[in-house]
Amino acid sequence: MLKLNDGSFVVDYKDFISNNFINYSFKKTNYDKHNPALRIYFKNDLKHNTRIFKQLIKLKNAGINFCTEINGKKIRYIISNYNTDEVLKGFEALYMDDERKRIEFLYNTIFDELDDIWKNINPCGFCNNICEGIKHKQSPGNIDGCCYSFEYPKHSILSAHFTENLQKCKFFDKKKKRCSINNLSCKFFVCSYVKKTTSFNISMDDFLLVQAFFNKKQKLILHYNYFRTQEEIINKLLEKNNTPYFIYYWKSKYRIPPDTYNKI
Ligand code: SF4
Ligand code: SF4
Repeated sequence: MLKLNDGSFVVDYKDFISNNFINYSFKKTNYDKHNPALRIYFKNDLKHNTRIFKQLIKLKNAGINFCTEINGKKIRYIISNYNTDEVLKGFEALYMDDERKRIEFLYNTIFDELDDIWKNINPCGFCNNICEGIKHKQSPGNIDGCCYSFEYPKHSILSAHFTENLQKCKFFDKKKKRCSINNLSCKFFVCSYVKKTTSFNISMDDFLLVQAFFNKKQKLILHYNYFRTQEEIINKLLEKNNTPYFIYYWKSKYRIPPDTYNKI
């Protein structure tokens, strides 16, 4: 049972003791003001689950609620076949009305999820602080993986091909041997050597919370802002922007200025 921010609950179908619910269907659109709890069957299918959350967000934003009251408890959703924590985190996020808090919660949840993946799989083969990528020239440094930053020259038309000010990233914590700012873009980065030689890769398209809660522009922000603090990235995610997507992408408006850093 998961308690939501407004005091209502999400329960597992096997724990629900009433027949007073309606089944979720992608086709159903005629919900009224007095809907009982909504029963949702999740699948081991990212597209299916993303579609459900996108529709739940729309319904919530339209003020359409679901509720069956049992022993004074308001049950909103009855769920089954959810095999990841991401689904429960998605419901938590759904009921965070403060946009900044919701974005922070999603950012931290996705970061922790990625951190666990990196720790559990450990594809970089670090030994004495030297990774496989360093041995195979994927990093310009000779220690501590690919935590090196560089800048693009500001006024060169070929700036995307030339770099300068290569240096150890200032956010690398030398004592703890890890990033000090929980940068999500770097967490999504996998060097080509690891991609080629192991089956390990990370795509944000595989994350339910990214797919369900972030739009296309926000995904670019999450992807391409290396060497930026969590606060800077969250501020950028909250920025309202009416620029058409193509121009937004083409003019790299997703980058937090100054637009000078990139990952090796
Ligand atoms: S991604 Fe590649 S370069 Fe970066 S730490 Fe891992 S092995 Fe090293
Ligand atoms: S911001 Fe990126 S490059 Fe810098 S320390 Fe953190 S993970 Fe490494």
